[in-house]
Amino acid sequence: MSDRIASELDAVIVGAGFSGLYMLHHARDVLGLRARVYEAGDGVGGTWYWNRYPGARCDSESYYYSYSFSEELEQEWEWSSKYPEQPEILRYLNHVADRFDLRRDIQLGTRVTAAAWDDERARWQVSTDAGDTVMARYLISAVGCLSAANVPDIAGLDRFEGAWYHTGAWPHDGVDFSGQRVSLIGTGSTGIQATPVIAREADHLTVFQRTPNYSVPARNAPLTPEVAAEIKANYREIRRKARESFGGFPFDPSVRSALDHSEEERRAIYESLWEEGGFKFLYGSFFDIFFNEDANATAAEFIRERIRAIVEDPAVAEKLCPHDHPYGSKRPPIDTDYFETFNRDNVTLVDLRETPIEEITARGIRTTTEHHDVDVIVFATGFDAMTGSLLKIDIRGRGGLSLRDKWAAGPRSYLGLQVAGFPNLFTITGPGSPSVLSNMPVSIEQHVEWIGQCIAHLREHGVSSIEATEDAEDAWVDHVAEVASMTLFQKASSWYLGANIPGKTRVFMPYVGGVFPYRQRCDDVAAKGYEGFSLTS
Ligand code: FAD
Ligand code: NAP
Repeated sequence: MSDRIASELDAVIVGAGFSGLYMLHHARDVLGLRARVYEAGDGVGGTWYWNRYPGARCDSESYYYSYSFSEELEQEWEWSSKYPEQPEILRYLNHVADRFDLRRDIQLGTRVTAAAWDDERARWQVSTDAGDTVMARYLISAVGCLSAANVPDIAGLDRFEGAWYHTGAWPHDGVDFSGQRVSLIGTGSTGIQATPVIAREADHLTVFQRTPNYSVPARNAPLTPEVAAEIKANYREIRRKARESFGGFPFDPSVRSALDHSEEERRAIYESLWEEGGFKFLYGSFFDIFFNEDANATAAEFIRERIRAIVEDPAVAEKLCPHDHPYGSKRPPIDTDYFETFNRDNVTLVDLRETPIEEITARGIRTTTEHHDVDVIVFATGFDAMTGSLLKIDIRGRGGLSLRDKWAAGPRSYLGLQVAGFPNLFTITGPGSPSVLSNMPVSIEQHVEWIGQCIAHLREHGVSSIEATEDAEDAWVDHVAEVASMTLFQKASSWYLGANIPGKTRVFMPYVGGVFPYRQRCDDVAAKGYEGFSLTS
């Protein structure tokens, strides 16, 4: 609990994950602001506090799925492997909270419920479910893009007599699957990570798949002392590469087109990247996978061939082969033995396209053709992404304008950082920024540092409020949509578009223009005296 009882703050930060922790450090220890974080969970860590399901781990490699702002932190922290499991990442974020003495300004177990802009005082009035009401000059959202769990509205769940869990709100003392008949709904990154681990523990696992997914092996491995030492010796260059890349990954960008190679050459490249594992298959193979359907089809077909080679039952293999969206148009999972798991005797695949779920009963799940008796249901059904957590807060801007109303037809922002009508509200990894299309710590650090420089500028020049103009916002929203329309992202019913939430307006939310061009644009806006913003003294 915070030991400060200030009801007048410079900044309120909502959320204590990667974003909120760094924002607090920057606001308090670099800018000297009186800042407080409110966090709904009972611990820090955000994603890594909530997602404790079996098999949870990162899919960006540890040495770049980490902060770069402190060279000491970089040098002293030891990662165990390429893709550490959730407990290790949570330990890292707790270490950051302790190392930078952040906890005294974090109020845990407290959800921000409402925030209203007071135009006369040029301050936000922020209310929480703990009964706090504080005034703050700046309101900084660090609520996360993937923090509002989506439990689908399936008839009968309330009658189910077994146990059910959503992967994004997993019990802290774990779940014992031994001797249990388990069902898992959802085959996104989460379901694909959890399936092999649950299958090893459970008596029987039934996977309910609505959309088959492309997945590439992670090839996780320990970080040997030699590799770790080499990384630490080269950290500055690694971070530079990540910042100046398309996706926030420190890979050499691919300049090859998939269509400029013979069948054999292309296959050799895919095979070598498949053996290496991880996101390089997507980001390091051919640049036109994201833009050109024919180029994309070569990667998609290669993955389907692999699935058919791994899965012994041809009928099951065919069901697992993705067919209705281009590779990479949904966030592609990275797996450890996912497809191999369907060769186990205790695993069954149910194709929901053939036999949709009709209802959940007291004893299991009924599809159009069968009743599956189960003891446990695991919902790996994702999140109300990008806007879900922010819109749970009743945010009122100038003249009482509600953010929920403003975003009813999809989120609108300038640079994903600010919303017209909502002065002094900053949104870390907000819709309209690269966020979820990138290795996120790179995008998070860029936003925190940009917001920090902006606030320093405002204070230096005696400016009391900053607000995106309607014109700048309109132009940015159009630009985000235009760039997305040049890619294959629009060809999938993905959570990037809000398609996973019934009734949510379909708008492509993240910015596809690339991490480095986006950074340059933000820096340019700042260099031009915050072009596109109106500043009030
Ligand atoms: P979060 O970590 O989501 O933290 C937001 C916090 O805000 C939460 O703790 C939440 O409780 C709190 N909060 C929300 N609303 C309120 C409120 N009203 N009041 C108070 N508190 C509130 N990204 C990658 O780049 N690489 C990966 O390998 C990767 N792996 C992932 C694995 C999983 C299982 C998931 C779900 C996501 C993964 N991501 C990954 C994305 C991940 O969300 C980001 O990398 C990063 O952790 C986001 O940090 P954040 O602080 O912005 O948000
Ligand atoms: P997700 O990608 O949204 O996947 C949810 C799955 O549930 C999809 O297969 C979806 O099917 C299915 N589903 C949703 N509603 C359903 C319903 N009513 N009936 C049946 N099936 C339903 O969610 P996620 O897997 O939790 O991943 C979300 C994001 O978190 C990822 O994309 C990634 O960015 C991040 N993440 C990363 C890692 C990692 O490896 N580091 C791990 C987990 C998550 P449809 O496809 O048909 O909608």
